[in-house]
Amino acid sequence: MAKKLVIIGSGPSGLTAAIYAARADLQPVVIEGFMKGGQPGGQLMTTTEVENFPGFPEGIDGPELIDRMKKQAARFGTEFIMEDMDTVDFSSRPFTLSNSTRTITAHSVIIATGASAMVLDLPSAKKFWSKGISACATCDGALPIFRNQVIAVIGGGDSAIEEASFLSRFASKVLLIHRRDEFRASKAMQKRAFENPKIEIVFDSVLEEAYGGQFLEGIKLKNVKTSQISDYACKGLFMSIGHTPNTGFVKNALEVDAKGYIKVKSPSTATSVEGVFAAGDVTDPHYRQAISAAGTGCVAALDAERWLQANGLG
Ligand code: NDP
Repeated sequence: MAKKLVIIGSGPSGLTAAIYAARADLQPVVIEGFMKGGQPGGQLMTTTEVENFPGFPEGIDGPELIDRMKKQAARFGTEFIMEDMDTVDFSSRPFTLSNSTRTITAHSVIIATGASAMVLDLPSAKKFWSKGISACATCDGALPIFRNQVIAVIGGGDSAIEEASFLSRFASKVLLIHRRDEFRASKAMQKRAFENPKIEIVFDSVLEEAYGGQFLEGIKLKNVKTSQISDYACKGLFMSIGHTPNTGFVKNALEVDAKGYIKVKSPSTATSVEGVFAAGDVTDPHYRQAISAAGTGCVAALDAERWLQANGLG
């Protein structure tokens, strides 16, 4: 029998959708994800302390926040399946979602599969992954190993400058490395970088090599105009070069933008297929916050509930 609502994704967006949908007696099924495009629970699972999620004045660990959301969704009858979905068929109703072990049919679907941080595909950088190199300064930057050390950030967008500013609170110096001689970031954010005495900007440069022993000890940068190699000692390197939405499995079934983010009919969460909704980072290249993802997850559940009712399926 077709499910009323299947939610794909178990980050703050998918779980908030599940809480609302379960309370509305839609008996939602959450496909939690397993390996593809991240992990169950999404990016919060690799975040240490979340200090800006309302309701937690002392802060809360990312995994604990997800665990609490999951318990809240389960309390109202959400069913969880810890698998990825490989293919979707939205061309006939009920919709079909499948992987190598199962096929699920559903009258409505919420896609909340989030986004993954992009990383540089360099063998020496891979070697020091989680040993000084990370893609999330807000998650890892405050760790004791980075305190009073030189730390590097790669990227020229708002995120890179935001992360460099954040890191400058703990680091002795932050190298902000960008491949061009002009930032992509907004003027206001650029001003922040230029005016911060702890931030040293290194333009026209790309990562040539990361080196060290057990942990990162330094990087070599190549100037793209002169080909000159420069050596910088640093204990941390944060890649802030953008995100990719986890939409590979729905790209041909739904309208997506040039970067692969699912297009929604804002302010609703309706996608190009009636009965399919999308919420959270998979639709959002701009805000990418746990709370904004949770907010659109709520909206998606309300949209799905109303759509099911209007079509006699609720
Ligand atoms: P962006 O896509 O805006 O920037 C990515 C940066 O990484 C660019 O400068 C890009 O260089 C660089 N880059 C990409 N690939 C590589 C590579 N292979 N090697 C070296 N550098 C690379 O992503 P952001 O995450 O910064 O921002 C995403 C969105 O979120 C934006 O719309 C931004 O405005 C918004 N945002 C807003 C904030 C705020 O207002 N407070 C905070 C954070 C994000 P290049 O410029 O040459 O393409």
